[in-house]
Amino acid sequence: MSNEQRSGKEKTIFGKEKNPSAILPQKLTLDSKIKFRCHPGVKCFTACCRGIKIVLTPYDILQLIKRLDIPAHEFLHTYTQPTYLEKTDMPGVMIKLNDEDEHKCPFVTPEGCTVYEDRPSACRYYPVGMADFHEGGSRDADGNETLGDEDKFFFMVKEDHCKGFEEDKEWTVREWRADQGVDVRDEMNKEWLRLIMRRKSYGVQATLSEQAKRMFFMASTDLAHFRRFIFESSFLDTYEVDEETLAKVKEDDVELMFFSFKFLAATLFGAQTMTIKPAKVEAKIEQIKQRQDESVLNSVREYEELMAARD
Ligand code: SF4
Ligand code: SF4
Repeated sequence: MSNEQRSGKEKTIFGKEKNPSAILPQKLTLDSKIKFRCHPGVKCFTACCRGIKIVLTPYDILQLIKRLDIPAHEFLHTYTQPTYLEKTDMPGVMIKLNDEDEHKCPFVTPEGCTVYEDRPSACRYYPVGMADFHEGGSRDADGNETLGDEDKFFFMVKEDHCKGFEEDKEWTVREWRADQGVDVRDEMNKEWLRLIMRRKSYGVQATLSEQAKRMFFMASTDLAHFRRFIFESSFLDTYEVDEETLAKVKEDDVELMFFSFKFLAATLFGAQTMTIKPAKVEAKIEQIKQRQDESVLNSVREYEELMAARD
């Protein structure tokens, strides 16, 4: 059985837990009060770090490879396994659980999480979930799903084994999110999650080419590889990228990540987030015209052949 099949639970970054019965039926706002605390003294300490599906965002991977001081390809090979994101055909990765050790997360020890300060986004959200990004329903000029602050709502997810709810600590959702670093993660993950939600809302009828899927996977999991793609392929012959942006994406991984989201929105969904160089556009138009000319000539030829056969 694969890790994925074994994972009954899912720490989710997408707003909904796998187990809907664990969601408490109460809509919360940022100012709603919640009672919860997780600390090494709880009986269930680290119980939620096993048998679980933890999907990684590009920012999660960026932080973890810095923390572990290893290249992305080594991280992906050692600590992750492939998965599909949010019931779409978009490929991503999840943490690979230890096969021989109760299907635990490779970063958990009896003392707690060894990468705590850089733990994945999904590990930070529990027990406060946020409504799906696509539930707002409206779209911006680029066709992106939008969700205004006023449309956001939160909900609690209460797993039976979790003793954190028996603790006395009370805080607002806002305080909880700030404490867990969720606000920062939301900002870092927002555009990437939108790509997935967009794919989901288009449905599987709209096909995504294998090449597009490979590009999405590469940019989402290995930004060093994506940087090489920008600077060592014909990328810069094709796209207009100003000097300032180029200098940033060369040096700064987070800028590179944001740039990759724009690139993916343009190539996967035709968003107006990248500009193709005029010479490339003209060459493409010429190519299409030539193809059309050829197809017209072919049709004329076929017609003449048919007529000749009839005569
Ligand atoms: S990364 Fe840390 S918090 Fe998340 S499941 Fe693993 S050990 Fe637990
Ligand atoms: S209190 Fe809940 S979140 Fe904390 S370790 Fe226990 S099960 Fe996990």
